[in-house]
Amino acid sequence: MLRARVRVVLVGAGHAHLLVLKHAGALRAAGVEPILVAPPTFHYSGLATAVLSGALPPGRALLDVGALAARYGVRHLPAEVAAIDRQARRLHLSDGQDLAYDAVSFNIGSVTACGGDLQGEGEAWPVKPLSGLAGLRRRLEDHLADGVSPSIVVAGGGPTGFEVAAALAGRVERAGLSPRVLILRRSMPDWASARALGRLSAALQRRGILQTSGEAAGRRPGEVLLLDGGALPCDLLVMATGLQAPAVIADLGLPLSQDGRLAVGPTLQSPGDPTVLAVGDCAVITGSPRPPAGVFGVRAAPILAHNLAALGTGARLATFAPQSRWLSILDLGDGTGLALRGRVWSLGRGALMLKRRLDLGFVDGLRAASGEVLED
Ligand SMILES: Cc1cc2nc3c(=O)[nH]c(=O)nc-3n(C[C@H](O)[C@H](O)[C@H](O)COP(=O)(O)OP(=O)(O)OC[C@H]3O[C@@H](n4cnc5c(N)ncnc54)[C@H](O)[C@@H]3O)c2cc1C
Repeated sequence: MLRARVRVVLVGAGHAHLLVLKHAGALRAAGVEPILVAPPTFHYSGLATAVLSGALPPGRALLDVGALAARYGVRHLPAEVAAIDRQARRLHLSDGQDLAYDAVSFNIGSVTACGGDLQGEGEAWPVKPLSGLAGLRRRLEDHLADGVSPSIVVAGGGPTGFEVAAALAGRVERAGLSPRVLILRRSMPDWASARALGRLSAALQRRGILQTSGEAAGRRPGEVLLLDGGALPCDLLVMATGLQAPAVIADLGLPLSQDGRLAVGPTLQSPGDPTVLAVGDCAVITGSPRPPAGVFGVRAAPILAHNLAALGTGARLATFAPQSRWLSILDLGDGTGLALRGRVWSLGRGALMLKRRLDLGFVDGLRAASGEVLED
């Protein structure tokens, strides 16, 4: 015997929620009414740098969220959640609507953590939201159309900083020019083995992608100002200075991890409010922190779907343990990639071929499910 219908609002069309849509029939059978609140377009991060480098056309990394939701009979509200009233169990949406919920699941990804002075229009290009990368690419192409290889500074020495620097260099190379790209990093990178990073740095250096220590603190026309008082030539400043949870997560008034993500237990529920669940970059399973990567949301999706259905049937909730080793592959913008899994790594064309196969498989699977006719 099913309980009364439970309304579950899925906030954000992140990796996990896109896959949960496929379970909509099972959710309804369990007495759960799923509703999706998310912007109309999903920008798939696995192909973001391929589009930035010009290796793939811009539309290749996009997914029509409304079409996918419609395919599985899920009501989609094309908006963002701006605020939440947990006492009243109501969500306030960016389009002014209010929406009641019985349970709410957040899969809203992350935003770039960059200094307040560097967020102004035209000052710097944050790597997230990914929708902003189209503007960065256009600005770069304006320079290239004048036959100029602009001086590009990418602030951030993490894998995203390296990947974005290599992608921008790839776009310059595709225009027949020599890249002038500088990775500005706070400290020596340690996100891969010293040998892997050494090989990567040497390969990038041969293409005109150099590295230096420092921190971006401000902008002047043609220059980036550094925290230590120095300045560097810079036509385009890109901020890859780390990812953090969107502000709405802190506004929930629930326990957070040290880095500001929503702390959840293995059932993906907040310990402070079991009607609030979260997955992906915006959350962390207490005791099992992981870096931002789409794969964790993908793996969590079936557990999340099970647990949302259990809210309708009263069944026991399942637990999720994120994997302790995972594959990540950087697209280096020149037909090569760097694959990393634990301390094992591989640099070359094979790594990128594998990445393309996995990423195109993921996004094309969803596009086909949404009814889109795939041309290539
Ligand atoms: C340039 C770049 C390249 C990357 N490449 C890779 C890669 O190759 N592989 C990889 O695993 N990771 C990569 N990452 C990291 C990756 O972006 C994230 O780890 C991953 O997207 C997180 O997935 P998610 O499911 O948590 O959320 P996301 O995929 O970020 O999706 C969250 C969704 O929620 C929506 N949203 C946000 N706020 C709200 C709101 N308030 N209300 C409603 N909806 C909202 C967003 O529009 C977005 O569609 C890359 C990151 C960058 C910046």
